[in-house]
Amino acid sequence: MHCPFCQNSDTKVVDTRISDDGHSIRRRRECTRCSKRFTTVESTMLLVLKNSGNVEPFDRSKVISGVRKACQGRPIKEEDLKALGQRVEEDLRSRGLAQVRSEEVGRAILEPLRELDVVAYMRFASVYQNFENLDDFQRAIDMLKQQAA
Ligand SMILES: [Zn+2]
Repeated sequence: MHCPFCQNSDTKVVDTRISDDGHSIRRRRECTRCSKRFTTVESTMLLVLKNSGNVEPFDRSKVISGVRKACQGRPIKEEDLKALGQRVEEDLRSRGLAQVRSEEVGRAILEPLRELDVVAYMRFASVYQNFENLDDFQRAIDMLKQQAA
C-alpha cells in the first residue's frame, strides 16, 4: 500500500476497524517517511460458483431481479425486495466462506421469500427446485401447511 502523498511503499497500520455490517475493514495507516495518515478500506469478496462452472462476484441485484420475477402481480413492495436481498446477502456472508454455490444462493432466498409471500415462494421454488409434476407441488404445499400450523 503506497502512501498517497509521497508514494513511499512502507506504511504502518495505526488503527483497524470493522464496519457495522461486518463487510469491510477500515485501516488507518501512517507513512513511515512523511508521517501523513490515510485510510484504506478492504472489503471481502463473496464469489458464487455457477452450475456452468463459472465463478462470479455475488450480486445482490441479481438476487432481487430473480425474486422480482416470481413476485409479479403480488402485493410486494420494492422495499421488501431490497430487504430480502440484504437478508440473503447477510445470511451468505455470515457463513464466512469466500465462495458459495449458486444453489446455496437459491436456498438462502427460499426462507425469507416464504415469509414474504407464499405464492411468490411457490413460483420461485418450482423453478429453482425443478418441480416436474403435481406431486412436487403437493409436497411443497404440504410443507407450507405444516409450517403454518
Ligand atoms: Zn508518505
